[in-house]
Amino acid sequence: MTDTGSRLDGAGIARQIRDEVAEAVARIGAAGWTPRLDAVLVGDDPASKLYVASKARTCQELGMAANTHHLPADSDQGTVEELVRRLNDDPDVDGILVQLPLPAGLDTHRVLDLIDPLKDVDGIHPANVGLLQQGRPRLVPCTPAGIMQMLRREGVQLEGRRAVVVGRSDIVGKPMAVLLLHAHATVTICHSRTRELPRITREADVLIAAAGRCALIGPEHVREGAVVVDVGQHRLTDGDVVRRLFADNPKKLGVFERKGAVLAGDVDFDRVAPVAGRITPVPGGVGPLTIAMLMANTVSAARLRRGV
Ligand code: NAD
Repeated sequence: MTDTGSRLDGAGIARQIRDEVAEAVARIGAAGWTPRLDAVLVGDDPASKLYVASKARTCQELGMAANTHHLPADSDQGTVEELVRRLNDDPDVDGILVQLPLPAGLDTHRVLDLIDPLKDVDGIHPANVGLLQQGRPRLVPCTPAGIMQMLRREGVQLEGRRAVVVGRSDIVGKPMAVLLLHAHATVTICHSRTRELPRITREADVLIAAAGRCALIGPEHVREGAVVVDVGQHRLTDGDVVRRLFADNPKKLGVFERKGAVLAGDVDFDRVAPVAGRITPVPGGVGPLTIAMLMANTVSAARLRRGV
């Protein structure tokens, strides 16, 4: 293991992946086609709008085409499904991304199940989930796929190691656990009903925190020298919480004073970093990897459909 608390460079690896995608797009362009990602945004959730805009911008930066289809919040199930069918049938569309969560009242599973599995850049269609489960990954959810890229490129050994994933969502926790399993780690999944969480997480050589609970993971959860990956993303606006969490962190406090908000993860970074071997920061860790892998998945989908 390396020095305590040294960073896993998610942002740097995301830049490498983006460069590789841009090169692939240029090669594909020379053959006469441009990969295209279409996003479906229903309603006006500000965070969802920001995510979709930033995904479209990144597509364009890498030479790909991007379209956003914005439907009103009160759209009915039939309207959303009709749009997905239209994108499935459009030969120019390579990737379809339905931004979640959909407004209450819409059946998310019915919408996602409709996406053409070969255009499913989020890797959440049951056909892609099944292939991943069987160790035949095709399109894999972007966040866990990005974390695997980071662990590999940073030389983190997984074979025979103990990995603990905190969180069992379909988009992060479960596929993360399956990928670690296929990399020959011994994997434990923890969730909201897990008892004695710190006792279990302390067994981890590699700990993935994806619970969506700010600063849930403290030093008592982490074995000395463990690799800690923080998936959580929380925008904190409550001054009391920020001052408690970042009491000894003038940089974060300064950001809060200037912007009125700071980003934090599921890991109490300032207290865990001295115990961990390697650790991802928030921001600059898993977030950039997720978007880089979405770009990589769009190119993969474009190639898959053309049998390249
Ligand atoms: P989710 O709410 O769907 O799932 C959270 C999971 O954590 C659940 O399975 C739940 O059982 C478990 N959990 C909740 N409280 C727990 C507790 N106290 N102890 C143990 N387990 C607990 O969330 P998600 O979509 O998987 O996302 C998780 C976090 O990751 C969120 O903060 C989300 O914003 C973030 N996220 C970040 C990125 C990124 O690119 N950085 C991408 C996806 C999600």
